[in-house]
Amino acid sequence: MIIILEPHITKESKEFHGLMEYLKRFPHLQIKVMEHQGVTRSLIEVHLIGEDYMVSQEEIENLPGVEKAIKVTAKYRLIGRHGALSDFGFEYQGLQFNQESFHIFAGQCAVDTYENAEAIFRALKENGLCCARMGAYKPRTSPYDFQGHGKACLPWLFELAGKYGIKVIAMEVLSPHHIEEIKEALEAAGNPCGVILQIGTRNAQNFELLKAVGRQNEFPVLYKRGYGLALEESLNAAEYIASEGNTKIIFCLRGVRTHLGDPHRNLVDFAHVPVVKRLTRLPVCIDPSHPIGSKVADPDGIKDIYHVTAQGIISGANMVLVEFHPQPEKALCDGPQSLPLSELPLYVEYIHQVRECYLKLKKLVKEKS
Ligand code: PEP
Ligand code: MN
Repeated sequence: MIIILEPHITKESKEFHGLMEYLKRFPHLQIKVMEHQGVTRSLIEVHLIGEDYMVSQEEIENLPGVEKAIKVTAKYRLIGRHGALSDFGFEYQGLQFNQESFHIFAGQCAVDTYENAEAIFRALKENGLCCARMGAYKPRTSPYDFQGHGKACLPWLFELAGKYGIKVIAMEVLSPHHIEEIKEALEAAGNPCGVILQIGTRNAQNFELLKAVGRQNEFPVLYKRGYGLALEESLNAAEYIASEGNTKIIFCLRGVRTHLGDPHRNLVDFAHVPVVKRLTRLPVCIDPSHPIGSKVADPDGIKDIYHVTAQGIISGANMVLVEFHPQPEKALCDGPQSLPLSELPLYVEYIHQVRECYLKLKKLVKEKS
């Protein structure tokens, strides 16, 4: 059961103490108090973990200071929506991330040269974008492929981000010590930007890594669905992050592996955007680069990456994570699917038009239903 307290209640309130007193009659239950700083309100939730069938929902809801008690059936209790109306939402680097917000994180799969990183940041700025994707630690299929520059590139990467007003960089981490390296490099550079820690699809069930990004509260986490996992399994994996205390999580769909997606690299799973928004309180990101895997276009000239981007946005996605490179043919990782940087203005315009259309459709449905 999750007990949601009224907005004015704090841990110091007598109503909160009254509830804690009441709960002492169920000593076998583990009680976890979660405080969320939401977009419109702050919120205290009291989670009862264990066999709670003997706890009366009605009695709890009649206690002073209690807004609502929700019986939870899903295992992903913290990230789950459970019929609650509000989503988590969080603010980071002055930006809001929630199920209403919308951001574009474009950039390199793997940071290669100073010049290319600078070209990317400059183009983002010129196109009114303040978020980027920039991989420094890369999980590669072959140990002989470029593994990313790792911590060596962080000082100049962060310095460049600051120079071009980039507020947040999404960056994959493969091991808990990468979090420390990022933190140290940011501090050494004077914190010119923020970082969202990306959990790649290959680490979608690396529970120790998930717990490590969950134990810290400084950086939000972009969790990518496992390419071979059922949605439910990935939601439970994302719950590991929240269970350690960090609920600043964005759930990313990036396609799933099956030959039924051929000739695309993965099968696009963006029909799950509304599913994840309904089941959880997390903002949902789509990655159109990895499911497509190339720059093929339809007979009208519209690339498949554009088409699936539109599919995700029209389904209500809150973020797009997409690969661009100044010279894709020379990229050290994922060049075939990286869009040329010269195409960024078109892609951004395309995205804005689709997003506008989604907002109009949302309004239409609200008015007419
Ligand atoms: C990436 O974003 O570059 C990446 C490696 O993605 P994924 O983990 O989804 O394959
Ligand atoms: Mn990539």
